[in-house]
Amino acid sequence: MNLILMGLPGAGKGTQAEKINEKYKIPHISTGDMFRLAIKEGTALGQKAKAFMDQGALVPDEVTIGIVQERLSMTDCKNGFLLDGFPRTIAQAEALKQLLANMDEKIDNVIHVDVPEEKLMERLTGRRVCPTCGRTYHVVYNPPKKDGICDKDGTTLIQREDDTADTVKNRLAVNIDQMQPLLNFYTEEGTLVTIDGDQEITDVFKDIQKQLDN
Ligand code: AMP
Repeated sequence: MNLILMGLPGAGKGTQAEKINEKYKIPHISTGDMFRLAIKEGTALGQKAKAFMDQGALVPDEVTIGIVQERLSMTDCKNGFLLDGFPRTIAQAEALKQLLANMDEKIDNVIHVDVPEEKLMERLTGRRVCPTCGRTYHVVYNPPKKDGICDKDGTTLIQREDDTADTVKNRLAVNIDQMQPLLNFYTEEGTLVTIDGDQEITDVFKDIQKQLDN
Protein backbone atom coordinates (compact mmCIF):
# COMPACT_ATOMS: atom_id res chain seq x y z
CA MET A 1 0.00 0.00 0.00
CA ASN A 2 1.65 3.21 -1.21
CA LEU A 3 0.20 6.20 0.59
CA ILE A 4 0.62 9.93 0.87
CA LEU A 5 -0.65 11.80 3.90
CA MET A 6 -1.52 15.43 3.21
CA GLY A 7 -2.68 18.29 5.35
CA LEU A 8 -1.60 21.70 6.53
CA PRO A 9 0.93 21.89 9.37
CA GLY A 10 -0.88 20.96 12.59
CA ALA A 11 -3.61 18.90 10.89
CA GLY A 12 -2.45 15.84 12.84
CA LYS A 13 -0.49 14.10 10.11
CA GLY A 14 2.26 12.94 12.47
CA THR A 15 -0.18 11.39 14.92
CA GLN A 16 -2.20 9.62 12.20
CA ALA A 17 1.00 8.50 10.46
CA GLU A 18 2.08 6.73 13.64
CA LYS A 19 -1.27 4.92 13.80
CA ILE A 20 -1.16 3.93 10.11
CA ASN A 21 2.41 2.69 10.58
CA GLU A 22 1.38 0.50 13.55
CA LYS A 23 -1.72 -0.92 11.90
CA TYR A 24 -0.55 -1.42 8.30
CA LYS A 25 3.17 -2.04 8.99
CA ILE A 26 4.46 0.34 6.37
CA PRO A 27 7.33 2.77 7.06
CA HIS A 28 6.44 6.36 7.88
CA ILE A 29 8.61 8.60 5.72
CA SER A 30 8.56 12.22 6.86
CA THR A 31 10.80 14.55 4.87
CA GLY A 32 10.64 17.07 7.73
CA ASP A 33 11.96 14.41 10.17
CA MET A 34 14.66 13.41 7.69
CA PHE A 35 15.83 17.02 7.38
CA ARG A 36 15.75 17.55 11.15
CA LEU A 37 17.83 14.41 11.67
CA ALA A 38 20.33 15.52 9.03
CA ILE A 39 20.67 18.90 10.76
CA LYS A 40 21.14 17.23 14.15
CA GLU A 41 23.83 14.97 12.69
CA GLY A 42 25.50 17.89 10.88
CA THR A 43 25.52 16.19 7.47
CA ALA A 44 25.90 18.01 4.13
CA LEU A 45 22.17 17.54 3.56
CA GLY A 46 21.46 19.14 6.94
CA GLN A 47 23.62 22.12 6.08
CA LYS A 48 21.75 22.60 2.79
CA ALA A 49 18.31 22.32 4.42
CA LYS A 50 18.86 24.37 7.57
CA ALA A 51 18.74 27.90 6.11
CA PHE A 52 15.42 27.18 4.36
CA MET A 53 13.83 25.48 7.36
CA ASP A 54 14.86 28.28 9.73
CA GLN A 55 12.85 30.68 7.54
CA GLY A 56 9.85 28.35 7.34
CA ALA A 57 10.52 28.06 3.58
CA LEU A 58 10.61 24.93 1.44
CA VAL A 59 13.89 23.15 0.82
CA PRO A 60 14.64 23.17 -2.96
CA ASP A 61 12.92 20.42 -4.98
CA GLU A 62 16.10 18.80 -6.29
CA VAL A 63 17.41 18.27 -2.75
CA THR A 64 14.08 16.95 -1.45
CA ILE A 65 13.33 14.68 -4.42
CA GLY A 66 16.82 13.19 -4.12
CA ILE A 67 16.40 12.13 -0.50
CA VAL A 68 12.92 10.69 -1.15
CA GLN A 69 14.16 8.69 -4.12
CA GLU A 70 16.99 7.27 -2.02
CA ARG A 71 14.60 6.40 0.83
CA LEU A 72 11.97 4.71 -1.39
CA SER A 73 14.61 2.43 -2.88
CA MET A 74 15.32 0.90 0.54
CA THR A 75 14.07 -2.64 1.15
CA ASP A 76 11.60 -1.75 3.92
CA CYS A 77 9.50 0.11 1.31
CA LYS A 78 8.94 -3.04 -0.74
CA ASN A 79 5.45 -3.65 0.67
CA GLY A 80 4.46 -0.02 0.74
CA PHE A 81 5.18 3.27 2.46
CA LEU A 82 3.51 6.31 3.92
CA LEU A 83 4.83 9.66 2.75
CA ASP A 84 4.29 12.57 5.12
CA GLY A 85 5.25 16.12 4.14
CA PHE A 86 6.07 15.07 0.58
CA PRO A 87 5.18 16.06 -2.12
CA ARG A 88 4.82 19.76 -1.33
CA THR A 89 5.10 21.04 -4.93
CA ILE A 90 3.78 19.91 -8.32
CA ALA A 91 7.36 19.33 -9.44
CA GLN A 92 7.78 16.92 -6.49
CA ALA A 93 4.47 15.19 -7.32
CA GLU A 94 5.49 14.74 -10.96
CA ALA A 95 8.94 13.48 -9.96
CA LEU A 96 7.37 11.04 -7.50
CA LYS A 97 4.99 9.72 -10.13
CA GLN A 98 7.89 9.18 -12.52
CA LEU A 99 10.22 7.54 -10.05
CA LEU A 100 7.44 5.18 -8.86
CA ALA A 101 6.60 4.33 -12.49
CA ASN A 102 10.27 3.41 -12.97
CA MET A 103 9.87 0.96 -10.06
CA ASP A 104 6.60 -0.37 -11.52
CA GLU A 105 4.73 1.22 -8.63
CA LYS A 106 2.13 3.94 -8.12
CA ILE A 107 0.41 5.89 -5.36
CA ASP A 108 -2.73 4.04 -4.18
CA ASN A 109 -4.28 6.67 -1.94
CA VAL A 110 -3.67 10.27 -0.96
CA ILE A 111 -5.23 10.92 2.43
CA HIS A 112 -6.01 14.59 3.02
CA VAL A 113 -6.56 15.34 6.70
CA ASP A 114 -8.70 18.47 6.51
CA VAL A 115 -8.81 20.96 9.43
CA PRO A 116 -10.16 24.55 9.29
CA GLU A 117 -7.35 27.11 9.17
CA GLU A 118 -8.45 28.96 12.30
CA LYS A 119 -7.89 25.83 14.41
CA LEU A 120 -4.39 25.30 13.13
CA MET A 121 -2.66 28.27 14.80
CA GLU A 122 -3.88 27.07 18.21
CA ARG A 123 -2.96 23.49 17.50
CA LEU A 124 0.54 24.29 16.25
CA THR A 125 1.71 26.59 19.00
CA GLY A 126 0.61 23.94 21.56
CA ARG A 127 2.53 21.15 19.87
CA ARG A 128 5.38 19.46 21.73
CA VAL A 129 7.71 16.83 20.36
CA CYS A 130 10.03 14.22 21.81
CA PRO A 131 13.58 14.94 20.56
CA THR A 132 14.51 11.27 21.05
CA CYS A 133 11.72 9.29 19.33
CA GLY A 134 9.90 12.05 17.41
CA ARG A 135 6.48 11.34 18.95
CA THR A 136 4.25 14.42 18.97
CA TYR A 137 1.90 15.65 21.70
CA HIS A 138 -0.35 18.66 22.29
CA VAL A 139 -0.57 20.51 25.59
CA VAL A 140 -4.41 20.51 25.33
CA TYR A 141 -5.55 17.94 22.77
CA ASN A 142 -3.04 15.13 23.20
CA PRO A 143 -1.05 15.65 26.41
CA PRO A 144 1.52 13.12 27.64
CA LYS A 145 0.60 11.17 30.80
CA LYS A 146 3.19 13.16 32.74
CA ASP A 147 3.41 16.89 31.95
CA GLY A 148 6.29 17.66 29.57
CA ILE A 149 7.63 14.07 29.48
CA CYS A 150 7.47 11.57 26.59
CA ASP A 151 5.26 8.54 27.42
CA LYS A 152 7.44 6.27 25.33
CA ASP A 153 10.98 7.00 26.56
CA GLY A 154 10.78 9.57 29.38
CA THR A 155 12.61 12.32 27.45
CA THR A 156 11.74 15.96 28.23
CA LEU A 157 9.49 17.25 25.43
CA ILE A 158 10.47 20.34 23.43
CA GLN A 159 8.71 22.93 21.29
CA ARG A 160 10.10 22.78 17.77
CA GLU A 161 11.71 26.05 16.67
CA ASP A 162 9.35 26.14 13.69
CA ASP A 163 6.27 25.81 15.96
CA THR A 164 6.67 29.30 17.45
CA ALA A 165 4.02 31.91 16.50
CA ASP A 166 5.93 33.95 13.87
CA THR A 167 7.28 30.92 12.05
CA VAL A 168 3.89 29.17 12.20
CA LYS A 169 2.22 32.13 10.45
CA ASN A 170 4.77 31.98 7.66
CA ARG A 171 4.59 28.19 7.42
CA LEU A 172 0.81 28.25 7.13
CA ALA A 173 0.91 30.90 4.40
CA VAL A 174 3.52 28.93 2.42
CA ASN A 175 1.64 25.65 2.88
CA ILE A 176 -1.82 26.98 1.99
CA ASP A 177 -0.47 28.34 -1.30
CA GLN A 178 1.36 25.11 -2.04
CA MET A 179 -1.27 22.55 -1.07
CA GLN A 180 -4.22 23.47 -3.28
CA PRO A 181 -2.49 22.63 -6.59
CA LEU A 182 -1.53 19.26 -5.08
CA LEU A 183 -5.11 18.54 -4.01
CA ASN A 184 -6.14 19.36 -7.59
CA PHE A 185 -3.37 17.14 -8.97
CA TYR A 186 -4.44 14.10 -6.92
CA THR A 187 -8.14 14.77 -7.55
CA GLU A 188 -7.34 14.48 -11.24
CA GLU A 189 -5.33 11.32 -10.57
CA GLY A 190 -8.43 9.93 -8.80
CA THR A 191 -6.52 9.00 -5.63
CA LEU A 192 -7.52 11.81 -3.25
CA VAL A 193 -9.54 10.95 -0.14
CA THR A 194 -10.57 13.81 2.18
CA ILE A 195 -10.91 13.02 5.89
CA ASP A 196 -12.45 15.36 8.48
CA GLY A 197 -9.46 16.08 10.73
CA ASP A 198 -11.44 18.26 13.15
CA GLN A 199 -12.49 15.33 15.36
CA GLU A 200 -11.00 13.21 18.14
CA ILE A 201 -7.74 11.54 17.09
CA THR A 202 -9.31 8.06 17.29
CA ASP A 203 -12.27 9.11 15.13
CA VAL A 204 -9.98 10.58 12.48
CA PHE A 205 -8.13 7.26 12.41
CA LYS A 206 -11.38 5.28 12.17
CA ASP A 207 -12.32 7.32 9.08
CA ILE A 208 -8.89 6.69 7.55
CA GLN A 209 -9.18 2.94 8.22
CA LYS A 210 -12.61 2.84 6.62
CA GLN A 211 -11.16 4.34 3.45
CA LEU A 212 -8.06 2.12 3.36
CA ASP A 213 -9.92 -1.10 4.10
CA ASN A 214 -12.42 -0.38 1.33
P1 AMP B 1 7.42 19.40 8.34
O1 AMP B 1 7.96 18.68 9.52
O2 AMP B 1 6.82 18.49 7.31
O3 AMP B 1 6.51 20.53 8.71
O4 AMP B 1 8.68 20.07 7.59
C1 AMP B 1 9.48 21.01 8.25
C2 AMP B 1 10.28 21.79 7.21
O5 AMP B 1 11.10 20.89 6.44
C3 AMP B 1 9.46 22.53 6.17
O6 AMP B 1 9.02 23.78 6.64
C4 AMP B 1 10.46 22.64 5.03
O7 AMP B 1 11.41 23.65 5.29
C5 AMP B 1 11.17 21.31 5.08
N1 AMP B 1 10.46 20.30 4.24
C6 AMP B 1 9.85 19.16 4.67
N2 AMP B 1 9.31 18.48 3.63
C7 AMP B 1 9.58 19.21 2.52
C8 AMP B 1 9.29 19.05 1.13
N3 AMP B 1 8.58 18.00 0.68
N4 AMP B 1 9.74 19.99 0.27
C9 AMP B 1 10.44 21.04 0.70
N5 AMP B 1 10.74 21.27 2.00
C10 AMP B 1 10.32 20.37 2.90
